[in-house]
Amino acid sequence: MRLSRFFMPILKENPREAEIVSHRLMLRSGMIRQQGAGSFSWLPLGKRVLDKVNQIIREEQNRAGAQEILMPTIQSADLWRESGRYDDYGKEMLRITDRHDRELLYGPTNEEMVTDIFRSYVKSYKDLPLNLYHIQWKFRDEVRPRFGVMRSREFLMKDAYSFDLDYDGAKAAYNRMFVAYLRTFARMGLNSIPMRADTGPIGGDLSHEFIILASTGESEVFCDRAFLQMEVPDENVNFSDDAEIAGIVEKWTTPYAATDEMHEEAEWSKVKGDDQLSARGIEVGHIFHFGTKYSEPMGASVTGPDGQEHLVSMGSYGIGPSRLLAAIIEASHDENGIIWPEAVAPFQVALINMKVGDEACDGACETLYDELTAAGIEVLYDDTDQRAGSKFATADLIGLPWQVIVGPRGVKAGEAEIKNRRTGEREALPLGDVTKRLG
Ligand code: ATP
Ligand code: MG
Ligand code: MG
Ligand code: MG
Repeated sequence: MRLSRFFMPILKENPREAEIVSHRLMLRSGMIRQQGAGSFSWLPLGKRVLDKVNQIIREEQNRAGAQEILMPTIQSADLWRESGRYDDYGKEMLRITDRHDRELLYGPTNEEMVTDIFRSYVKSYKDLPLNLYHIQWKFRDEVRPRFGVMRSREFLMKDAYSFDLDYDGAKAAYNRMFVAYLRTFARMGLNSIPMRADTGPIGGDLSHEFIILASTGESEVFCDRAFLQMEVPDENVNFSDDAEIAGIVEKWTTPYAATDEMHEEAEWSKVKGDDQLSARGIEVGHIFHFGTKYSEPMGASVTGPDGQEHLVSMGSYGIGPSRLLAAIIEASHDENGIIWPEAVAPFQVALINMKVGDEACDGACETLYDELTAAGIEVLYDDTDQRAGSKFATADLIGLPWQVIVGPRGVKAGEAEIKNRRTGEREALPLGDVTKRLG
């Protein structure tokens, strides 16, 4: 992509409304635009990162055996009356009436709808386990939308729903999602800590929030420092081996970790003083087991191996991809801007032409651009007529992992300079070696 053609409205000034660094940097780099209270458009740079985050989530959900569907955003109030949640949910739910005076709502979550899909088709234990997920916009009329996409009213959620014959099956499904979450966040360069959590209005008796430690986080959390050293399972983890998966969950739930709602002083005091980490955190994911909370009122049952009808045991598993972008930036930036982890970077390389119009610089850049692109590396080529200093500032601000800098002096010597955005390390390389070095 050529920067001269790329829609990336950079702001020179710090936007006054942005209180935290991720919000500031997302606005300044032209990733998002606020459209109303808690509502944002995703501009090309932001959309590219959002797509990468979603793709990682998808790959890990699929690996763990979940299947992707897509349910509508608008739901019928009657479905929510079946579970009793239409009246319980309160003011966070956006209620809508259509031209026939039918009561509708913009979904804040999808337990009812997915349970309706399940009960319409699945009748036998032989079709279990089943886990269906989608990545879809949600609306919650938050009392205090703030911090940009961190807490917005319209936001993206990956929500998965598992259906099993009994508690043991549901527990195994819960464990698979637990391990999938560890991998998902680690692939985005994040240290996530699963913490015992309150089950809130969804109800149930087994729940973990996945928390990223950050001083700007809205949750107060308490955990053992041991989590910072723990190794996340690699891609060879076998999701069809319940014992292996349970073992990983066991290991990751042994050290103390709880959000303030679930915090227990007696347990906490058993953690060695030096290992006690009380901090603030960002909730990026949340998994629940809630048994028959929805299957019972909505009549979702299957015939078991015993020939009897069994209400299915369910769980739900949420991740906030839009909030994740902000969380990644909170965890990875410096005074000059964002530092994207490679796996979610909008482009891998910023190719900076320091002297557009200089035949040698233009020629070297065009060749590099073609070579890098042909090697499958995503390049944002700064072919604009800005001053070099302003190009460097933009490249640092948008935080692509590598910068390839081409200037008249280097080109004369047949060289380009590459800079690692994270470490700041620079290296001069023959022009012909750049692609190999970055590939
Ligand atoms: P919070 O405690 O921050 O209000 P929640 O517990 O209400 O979140 P869940 O119902 O558990 O949220 O939803 C699953 C995930 O959706 C959350 O872990 C979070 O990543 C994301 N999410 C929830 N609310 C918002 C929001 N207002 N803006 C952006 N992401 C959100
Ligand atoms: Mg909430
Ligand atoms: Mg919460
Ligand atoms: Mg939650």
